[in-house]
Amino acid sequence: MIEMKNVSKWYGPVQVLTDCSVSIKKGDVVVVCGPSGSGKSTLIKTVNALEPIQQGEITVDGTRVNAPSTDLPKLRSRVGMVFQHFELFPHLSVTENLTIAQIKVLGRSADEAKVRGLKMLDRVGLTAHKDKFPGQLSGGQQQRVAIARALSMDPIVMLFDEPTSALDPEMVGEVLDVMVGLAKEGMTMMVVTHEMGFARKVANRVIFIDVGGHILEDCGKDEFFSHPENRQPRTKDFLSKIL
Ligand code: ATP
Ligand code: MG
Repeated sequence: MIEMKNVSKWYGPVQVLTDCSVSIKKGDVVVVCGPSGSGKSTLIKTVNALEPIQQGEITVDGTRVNAPSTDLPKLRSRVGMVFQHFELFPHLSVTENLTIAQIKVLGRSADEAKVRGLKMLDRVGLTAHKDKFPGQLSGGQQQRVAIARALSMDPIVMLFDEPTSALDPEMVGEVLDVMVGLAKEGMTMMVVTHEMGFARKVANRVIFIDVGGHILEDCGKDEFFSHPENRQPRTKDFLSKIL
């Protein structure tokens, strides 16, 4: 589904991804963790070419992300992305937020887009809020709308970049619950998070990335959590701070 081969990236003279190779299969739920500034956000943004790379190759469902001929809007419409800050359109209602990209990017009719959007809104438990504006919702509700918006595009994979880290603690659970549901239904997911409870519950793999964009670990969840003796010293150090 996602193949990254020997990907390197620099910002000016600073290397932020170093020879990263990751293979994500359909149905995988891969948690990416690592210290601040290690390149987690950069790594997942390269998947839909929100960040260009200077070396290596990335393919999503067979499409080469960095080929000049790639239709990026089409690629991005298949790769759902949810960020730390909800990034809903503040001047549009919840329903309009859910439908605009379906209409503009996928060419769906307004009616079709609405049916699909409201179905996804129901799935995240927010049907009652369909006519509100983002500013009238809590952070957790806004993030659930952002997830519904991404799902409305029928993505083949969902990328999450610390989707709960800007939320008040009491709202983290409602967003994680939606993500757990998605994972259990078989959605392919790449999730940057420090929520190790989520990782333990639904991830099948955990990647640990260290400063400079070095992938130090890429292993099964059980191996990651149950065999700390096999972890790299940097990983142990990181885990001792967040667990
Ligand atoms: P955090 O946990 O704080 O979100 P991260 O692991 O997501 O960190 P990135 O945001 O991917 O890290 O950043 C990786 C490195 O690239 C950092 O050193 C950061 O300062 C640098 N960086 C990120 N964006 C830019 C940019 N637009 N220009 C220059 N340097 C950047
Ligand atoms: Mg980040």
